[in-house]
Amino acid sequence: GHPTSIGKIEFRDVSFAYQTGPQIIRNFSLTVEPGETIALVGATGGGKSTMVNLLCRFYEPTGGQILIDDVDYTDRSLEGFQSQLGIVLQQPHLFSGTIAENIRYGKLSASDAEVEEAARFAGAHEFISVLEDGYQTPVGEGGNQLSLGQKQLVSFARTVLKRPQLLVMDEATSSIDTETEQLIQNSLKRILKERTSFVIAHRLSTIQAADRILVINNGEIVEQGSHQEL
Ligand code: ATP
Ligand code: MG
Repeated sequence: GHPTSIGKIEFRDVSFAYQTGPQIIRNFSLTVEPGETIALVGATGGGKSTMVNLLCRFYEPTGGQILIDDVDYTDRSLEGFQSQLGIVLQQPHLFSGTIAENIRYGKLSASDAEVEEAARFAGAHEFISVLEDGYQTPVGEGGNQLSLGQKQLVSFARTVLKRPQLLVMDEATSSIDTETEQLIQNSLKRILKERTSFVIAHRLSTIQAADRILVINNGEIVEQGSHQEL
């Protein structure tokens, strides 16, 4: 395929240790088909974030390989690969600028209409449109003038605008009000439906939306299956 397209993802016998530490991931193998949603669950310290770090190529395996469409991902351009990634972190990173600028960060060439379209799809338009300055509202340093839930919705809108082929998400654990929570769940379902996704899931509704759930412990898959099977 095209060097920047992301189809099948395969972890082949992957091992990993952070520089000085013990081996965190041991002989991890997994094949993910295009469009699949994978939920990672499991005890704290089990290695979920480490696996996601490897997938995003923030770190590379110390043993084994990660292959994208049967090609070792280290044989690809790092920039090309990461340009196809959409990453939504537990504490979404916003910079001090307007809401529109933060959404547009996913695609700098986007028009105002495209920014709004992405926000609508992500379920963020509702809260933005009632702000006095709407999309031109400054979010403050690190987005501190928005609630955590609102920051997540802005972060979703950014991801929707970017249209990444692979979505990686570390779901927020902090409490979010019920109404925003409902917005987040609805938009998350829409976003997940469109593309290959890896979600470190903390919510039952997200786990239910996944095609496959991996229970990770000590850097290994200890159980896997659909929500019905587990
Ligand atoms: P949680 O559910 O708490 O987020 P996790 O499953 O994401 O946990 P990881 O963060 O992947 O677990 O951690 C797995 C192991 O790797 C832990 O023992 C942790 O201490 C270690 N670890 C994580 N990040 C680093 C790092 N940057 N340097 C060294 N060790 C690390
Ligand atoms: Mg983690």
